[in-house]
Amino acid sequence: MTTSPARSKHAIVWFRRDLRLLENPAWSAATATSDEVTALFVLDPTLFNAAGPFRQQALIAHLHGLDDMLRERDGRLRIEHGDPVDVLPRVVAELNAVTHWNTDTTPYATRRDQAVTRALASTNAAEPRTHWGTLVHEPGRVLTGKGTLSKVFTPFAKVWDRTELTPWVEGVGDGRIADEHGAPLPQVVGAEDFPGGEVAARARVGEFLDRVDDYPELRDLPAIDGTSLLSGDLRFGTLSPRELMHVVGDSTDGRRAFVRQLAWRDWYAHLLWQTPGMVRAAIKPEYDNVAWRNDPDEYDAWKRGRTGFPIVDAGMRQLWKTGFMHNRVRMIVGSFLVKDLLIDWRWGERWFRHLLIDADVSQNVGNWQWVAGCGTDAAPYFRVFNPWTQSRKFDPRGDYIRRWVPELAGLRGDAVHEPAKAAPLDLAGAGVVLGDTYPLPIVDHALARDRVLHAYKRALGKT
Ligand SMILES: Cc1cc2nc3c(=O)[nH]c(=O)nc-3n(C[C@H](O)[C@H](O)[C@H](O)COP(=O)(O)OP(=O)(O)OC[C@H]3O[C@@H](n4cnc5c(N)ncnc54)[C@H](O)[C@@H]3O)c2cc1C
Repeated sequence: MTTSPARSKHAIVWFRRDLRLLENPAWSAATATSDEVTALFVLDPTLFNAAGPFRQQALIAHLHGLDDMLRERDGRLRIEHGDPVDVLPRVVAELNAVTHWNTDTTPYATRRDQAVTRALASTNAAEPRTHWGTLVHEPGRVLTGKGTLSKVFTPFAKVWDRTELTPWVEGVGDGRIADEHGAPLPQVVGAEDFPGGEVAARARVGEFLDRVDDYPELRDLPAIDGTSLLSGDLRFGTLSPRELMHVVGDSTDGRRAFVRQLAWRDWYAHLLWQTPGMVRAAIKPEYDNVAWRNDPDEYDAWKRGRTGFPIVDAGMRQLWKTGFMHNRVRMIVGSFLVKDLLIDWRWGERWFRHLLIDADVSQNVGNWQWVAGCGTDAAPYFRVFNPWTQSRKFDPRGDYIRRWVPELAGLRGDAVHEPAKAAPLDLAGAGVVLGDTYPLPIVDHALARDRVLHAYKRALGKT
């Protein structure tokens, strides 16, 4: 951390994925050490256009929420459009200000921040002051006795748990907030209905606290809201992960189980920070030898939720229609893509990254590598999820399937999990014509399992 107590007349806080004023180290430091502070958001069209509709909605809603918070304090959020490498030096020169930001761990963010730092240096601007505000512990803090990042989650989580928190600059200082609005935000359909900003995020935490004690029992059931649904807030930083950890606490099994998920989040971020190449390549390089089939029609069927595997189709349609998918179902659809269809995990990661509201490169890549078996601490390659079994186990009444695959809603009992095995009369009674109103399974799971095991064994030199 390169914070310095030196006072400045004017500071800029460059908001990125920390869209909150409270528990925000960059904001706290800037308001504590400057007479006036400009809150700046740079809308980079390249990033914005790559985001799916739900992430765009969420971003715009959160920015309005941040602006509302600033207005209550007699300021505004200044919006600029363009490449930060051009925008930051211009605004810094205009205001003769020192810049603060909270660091991120993705290779893209690292390159961008380095380029901005160089651009600022070339104009003789003051060196930016960087902070950590997006993780519980910043990378490099949670190390094994040998001083390395654990390649296995459980030991990482043990050290994570007992690692002392680096002190953050806390509270909000008395620096005046600048009242400059800059450019307008783009109009995005649906953004006005999205409850954005940190006030809405805190309300969501409050709702989750009513059910957190049941988290271990409910978290794997996609038909109900048994998880926190806070990943979008953590992704945009409308919530501080540290504050969330403290608010939840560790007084019950449910609370401890939830906080452990925040350790997973830190772990993947630390892994990416240390291994930026994992965005493109398997952490275990031999897994890049798998001869993927990469059939475009099957990939398309997966994306559209037309595979003939109801639990997979339900998940993919939830993603398509809402920008969210339950964690258990993410694992099922991920395994189906990689193992049953033998499609490269990077194709799945790309689709998720486009559509998910909570899309976060470290979490997405880390989890996809886990699913494909090629990451650290990954599920062994020979563990292939059986989609039929998973469906019956985690959506026992079929409610999740019926909600997202409405053409199967009339099927009663077990038939909804595997319509191809349903009695013809039941199918007819529910108005289901397989191959017409709903697809037949695009692969035979048992054959696909043999095929993927063979492909993985060849890649790993085990045949
Ligand atoms: C293939 C795949 C891709 C994924 N991509 C993303 C992604 O892009 N962004 C993302 O935030 N999560 C991702 N996850 C992890 C997980 O599915 C989501 O964090 C979770 O579903 C969000 O719902 P929630 O907030 O209700 O979770 P909760 O169960 O309430 O968990 C609380 C928080 O802990 C963290 N967390 C939970 N599970 C995981 C996990 N497996 N790995 C890392 N952190 C976790 C998240 O920040 C989450 O919000 C992915 C999982 C899989 C299997």
